[in-house]
Amino acid sequence: MTFKDLGLSDAILKAVEEKGYTKPSPIQEKAIPHILNGKDLLASAQTGTGKTAGFTLPVLNYLVATKHPKYRPLRALVLTPTRELAAQVYDNVREYSKYVNIKSAVIFGGVNAKPQIATLKRGVDILVATPGRLLDLHDQKAVSFKRVDVLILDEADRMLDMGFVRDINKIMSFMPVKRQNLMFSATFSKDIKQLAAGILRNPVEVETAPQNSTAKKVTHNVYQVDKGKKTEFTIKLIKDNNWKQVLIFTRTKHGANKLTKKLIQAGISSAAIHGNKSQGARTKALQNFKDNTIKILVATDIAARGLDIPLLPNVINFELPNVPEDYVHRIGRTGRAGAAGEAISLVCSEETEYQNEIEKLLKQKIKSTVVEGFEPTDTAPPKRAATSKKSFGKKKGGGNSGNKSAGTSASQKRKPHFKGNKPKPATGRGRSGAPKKRR
Ligand code: AMP
Repeated sequence: MTFKDLGLSDAILKAVEEKGYTKPSPIQEKAIPHILNGKDLLASAQTGTGKTAGFTLPVLNYLVATKHPKYRPLRALVLTPTRELAAQVYDNVREYSKYVNIKSAVIFGGVNAKPQIATLKRGVDILVATPGRLLDLHDQKAVSFKRVDVLILDEADRMLDMGFVRDINKIMSFMPVKRQNLMFSATFSKDIKQLAAGILRNPVEVETAPQNSTAKKVTHNVYQVDKGKKTEFTIKLIKDNNWKQVLIFTRTKHGANKLTKKLIQAGISSAAIHGNKSQGARTKALQNFKDNTIKILVATDIAARGLDIPLLPNVINFELPNVPEDYVHRIGRTGRAGAAGEAISLVCSEETEYQNEIEKLLKQKIKSTVVEGFEPTDTAPPKRAATSKKSFGKKKGGGNSGNKSAGTSASQKRKPHFKGNKPKPATGRGRSGAPKKRR
């Protein structure tokens, strides 16, 4: 299957070709024909699957084919949960519409509204927006939804989590009833199905990955680490592996700031991205991370949603999320577009229950390792599921740091994550043996 087979116009195909895509991704192959047919769609697709082009290309195709020669009313609206995702989707829309006479714009809060109002006044065919600012501008009569005939809800699950349902309903109340609705979500929860039932009419359902499954090529690893030693362990991981681009998740904004400060003190260029940062600081942090000016981006779940960081090799969960679905979202940042990736989670005693929940959701046990010198000593140590126990040099840069192969064995497919002393024999059940009951 090629993009041409999908029935897109030549001008759009040209833009796609320029992006260097050789063939449609599974979500594109499945979704585009239905969207071109005018069907409503409910698609389960994570970030990294190519879902943005999956809806943008056919919608642009439609907008071009049905364009009014004189007027340019707003006809397609993409709603996203976060400003960053809105900016990214807009970048995509602009690139894909390079060779067609379609105007696009992006609207989100946290920045001056005046230029946005001016852009809207000049006429826009397709608008990407976060709900809050959009409603603000609608109240100010800067935008009308009366001619919108395609509504796209991107990352609808996150919109639900962030409490945007009322805003979405309000926005829809200003639109024509007869329109095409496209809804994309990383997960198909009961709540999502319920939201979909209220918005979509006879939708085609498209699933690209099994429900709640994470990208296939992602390796999951848990390190059982003492809560108080997580920062030190993270620094060792990054330094020993000489990692150049790592996204780290923390549960709180305060935690993100604290870790970022410590990493910088350790000589590792880092920035934090979370809801308390200004839009300018968030954009700069992401840009610096993308162009390798900084090595580490420390993010909270909401801030990181939908960030398009291609081919990100490593994601570290400094803390496990307490909502297991967030784990799926987080590691959606790695192993993107078919590339291999690795998700590392630092788990202290009090987080073992979260790990349980995540494993249940993933329907798989995650390889779990205790590292000498960093063992969880905090309250109620879990009965561990460690398949191996590795030594870890206690002194910074100390130990047998030249011994890169420490910890490897024929059964280990990946390189060990750290330099250190020779590994101790695996605890209990042997390295290659399947873990026994966790706890
Ligand atoms: P998305 O899931 O929309 O965030 O897209 C993830 C990444 O995949 C982006 O960097 C896109 O530019 C890229 N991408 C989208 N479609 C394709 C394709 N057909 N082939 C290769 N890369 C793609």
